[in-house]
Amino acid sequence: MKCKVCRAHAVVDIRRHNAAFCQDHFVDHVNSQVAKAIKEFKMVTAEDRLLVAVSGGKDSLAVWDILMNLGYDTTGFYLDLGIGGYSGRSKEAAVAFADSRGVKLIVRSLREEHGFSVPELSTLTGRVPCSGCGLNKRYEFNRAALEEGFDVLVTGHNLDDEVATLFGNVLGWNTQMLGRQRPVLEERVVSAGAARAFVRKIKPLIRIAERETAAYALIRGIDYIVEECPMVEGNTQHRYKEALTLLEEASPGTKHRMYFGFLKNVSDRFAEDRGATELIPCAGCGAPTVASGAHATGELMCSFCKTKALAQARRAEREDATGRGVKRR
Ligand code: SF4
Ligand SMILES: [Zn+2]
Ligand SMILES: [Zn+2]
Repeated sequence: MKCKVCRAHAVVDIRRHNAAFCQDHFVDHVNSQVAKAIKEFKMVTAEDRLLVAVSGGKDSLAVWDILMNLGYDTTGFYLDLGIGGYSGRSKEAAVAFADSRGVKLIVRSLREEHGFSVPELSTLTGRVPCSGCGLNKRYEFNRAALEEGFDVLVTGHNLDDEVATLFGNVLGWNTQMLGRQRPVLEERVVSAGAARAFVRKIKPLIRIAERETAAYALIRGIDYIVEECPMVEGNTQHRYKEALTLLEEASPGTKHRMYFGFLKNVSDRFAEDRGATELIPCAGCGAPTVASGAHATGELMCSFCKTKALAQARRAEREDATGRGVKRR
């Protein structure tokens, strides 16, 4: 196996591109694929300040590294989810990477900010851990980007992530999510002329497969956390990924064709389902929430505040019950 560019010994082959690369040319290839995605989908301008959400895993650290290589103004953001030793080790990986590159990493903790971790939230509300986790991440990433004055929020979603999400959205015909599944989600405001409510969100790794980000991280000496989150068990997206990887092995390029075919030929058909809904500020925290849903239910709270209030109420009930138990003894 020889490098497509220099004919030296190749270390990575990419079957869907029918190409193999030596270490240096693989790094060039990954950087150029990210630059191509950024240009094609007009993700950022040269002046934008980018906040990169990092988990300590290979994808988010790789995208941060690549954006720095491409000359963008980046800062990392790590949210401690409070998932036992896993969160501690993933934070160490994120901090070590930032230190090794001499770049700024903002660290916040869910428990310090709101009083609960992802496992505690799940126990208190009965919500599936990954669902509560996703809600928290979306909320906290956007809040941090707005509070710290960033123009764009970057996530490390790769081709495998996006095609698995697409697969799930098609299986359930979730037309609203199909309409919103774009590599760029433009910023939104609560009302015309108001300050930003949602910052622009971008996914620059859409042209890179998961095994390629792992190879990239290895070659670039990025010491990422390899272990998986202990709560991933039962995550349906995980199962979709496994199924799609079987199809990809049988027919290289399947994932790329499905995802980019969707963006090119299908996505706009769901434009109306994207939710051109009016946003209003949440009565609890001021964050944007969808006006139509809020009016329909008579509630003006965002999903995050509703979930947080439920967790706090359940915790108070438990403490109350424990207190009564102690008194009876
Ligand atoms: S596996 Fe689930 S709980 Fe763990 S980090 Fe991912 S979304 Fe959060
Ligand atoms: Zn080469
Ligand atoms: Zn709120």
